[in-house]
Amino acid sequence: MIPILLDSKFKPNDLDVYANEQGGEDMLAHMHDEEEFKSVKTIESSAASYTRILRIHWLVKEDHLVNLIIVPDDNPMVAIFHFHSTIVMNCLTGYGVFCAYPALTLNRKSISNTGVFHTDESRRRADTCYTKYISRGIEHQSHLRHHGRWAHHQCGTDKSCPATIRSMHDEESLWIGLPSVRGLHSYDVF
Ligand SMILES: [Zn+2]
Repeated sequence: MIPILLDSKFKPNDLDVYANEQGGEDMLAHMHDEEEFKSVKTIESSAASYTRILRIHWLVKEDHLVNLIIVPDDNPMVAIFHFHSTIVMNCLTGYGVFCAYPALTLNRKSISNTGVFHTDESRRRADTCYTKYISRGIEHQSHLRHHGRWAHHQCGTDKSCPATIRSMHDEESLWIGLPSVRGLHSYDVF
């Protein structure tokens, strides 16, 4: 989503699709039967449930790779709030593009989601990702107050602060609507 939101030249090599168990079965059948992707491997997640991943299907067609990621939550969007930083808390849904922290993201700024680092290994992996995003022009900080504009923000009130309780449908979340996709109705989540 970052190339769409920030008009970046960066081109991703693969596509991550998040689905719950039922949606994942439908998606897998669609990718095999309609899109002619082949399953090359399936990784069962052995990690604890905080990763919010049950299994990852690797689907390949020519040089295209799709990772179909099965999550335990009814709403697969829950997964993005377990990502390592705010810069990646964006996704494309049947309704449109969603961005959880637009005040930061659209200004090419990001902060760590430290609550999801349960092991040294997960912290190390996140550090690698931060280096990657910094090299793409994103200003990354460990805490919101280290970004000048938010140096004196009110913790627990400012919508970009991790201590503030947020919802996907509050006034800070950014939704860029798309025309309905294949007859999706408002009660279909993904
Ligand atoms: Zn704060």
